[in-house]
Amino acid sequence: MTTTVKCIKCGEEKPALAAPPFRAGTKLGPLGEEIQQKICSPCYKDWIAMSVKLVNELRLDTTDPRGQELWLKQMKIFLNLDESSDPWARNLDKRVVVETVDGRTLTATLIGADDHRLTFSDFEGGVPTGFAAGANKGAASIARDALKTVEPAA
Ligand SMILES: [Zn+2]
Repeated sequence: MTTTVKCIKCGEEKPALAAPPFRAGTKLGPLGEEIQQKICSPCYKDWIAMSVKLVNELRLDTTDPRGQELWLKQMKIFLNLDESSDPWARNLDKRVVVETVDGRTLTATLIGADDHRLTFSDFEGGVPTGFAAGANKGAASIARDALKTVEPAA
């Protein structure tokens, strides 16, 4: 039985890589695991094809740390693995409906997303409890842990 993955690049349920593309225990081990869990095998093959072009066109020296860094950065962008691939960060600057883990829902504009907190503004009906008011008037943030879903508002 082939393991499939809901791919964050193409959005489809497709076969996963048989093994992580980077060896476990190395610096890139965790990234390799992330790729195996999030990216389908066809999309990773697309990246490899793209990567060959990139190395040729940019004359990337992948034995050089700076070349490797650039290569990795391009890979993350191509595979939707960079920070902007944060499903909640994709809704930055948009009206969203937020559901908290304690079951409240509210509508606000998502204005910031860091590793730990999301920040909203323009709450409908005032800043709800559980949100820490920010420096900006009308903006408040909440720990990601306290959120269940953040969906674009209809
Ligand atoms: Zn895919």
